[in-house]
Amino acid sequence: MKYIKDNLEKINASISDDVVLVAVSKTKPIADLQEAYDAGQRVFGENKIQEMVAKYDALPKDIQWHMIGHLQSNKVKYMAHFVDLIHGVDSFKTLKEINKQAKKHDRIISCLLQVRIAKEETKFGLPYEEISTILHAEELKNLTNINIAGFMGMATFTSDETILHEEFSLLKSFFEQNQPQHPNLKILSMGMSGDYKIGIRNGSTMIRVGSSIFGARNYIT
Ligand SMILES: *Cc1c(COP(=O)(O)O)cnc(C)c1O
Repeated sequence: MKYIKDNLEKINASISDDVVLVAVSKTKPIADLQEAYDAGQRVFGENKIQEMVAKYDALPKDIQWHMIGHLQSNKVKYMAHFVDLIHGVDSFKTLKEINKQAKKHDRIISCLLQVRIAKEETKFGLPYEEISTILHAEELKNLTNINIAGFMGMATFTSDETILHEEFSLLKSFFEQNQPQHPNLKILSMGMSGDYKIGIRNGSTMIRVGSSIFGARNYIT
């Protein structure tokens, strides 16, 4: 089972130190995560809260857990005591719930707003205008237990580099436009196994890589 370590080494060798590699371990067994941990990996991404909680309980406590999946507000409470970054926030309601749960644990939880950058039909993420509305909302100032730390975007599922480049570079511009007014915006989460190189070329600071580390998943999630 040495392949996980080899895959991590290969990816780390190809990215610069200032890009954070999130090892997306959804559906994978604890043994695989432990192997990645033993190879030095400390940031893991999961898309189901129950699964992340179970893995958090079983694994060393210096792991940073990122929730990358779509959130059900009623489950935020189960991870509020430990989650390090929530990538897929796409409603004000969810921000309020995260704030409420973070407060209970006297924490400030960092969140990324998910922007709908793909031209293809997708349920998740908000169009640029709605992201702006959230960023400028008066009510946001009352949510003192969350930190909007940046944006996350998923590009169209395609191998057409022109499309990927267009979608990522637009998000990068939007990110830069907003930074002067919102200095907490520091993270741009763009890129998965198939497109992280293009994500990085377009300014990604964080990539979410699953299958290129752990191998193909057995089922779609
Ligand atoms: C599963 C998933 C990934 C990782 O996908 P791979 O193609 O296996 O690298 C990245 N981001 C999100 C939001 C995911 O759900």
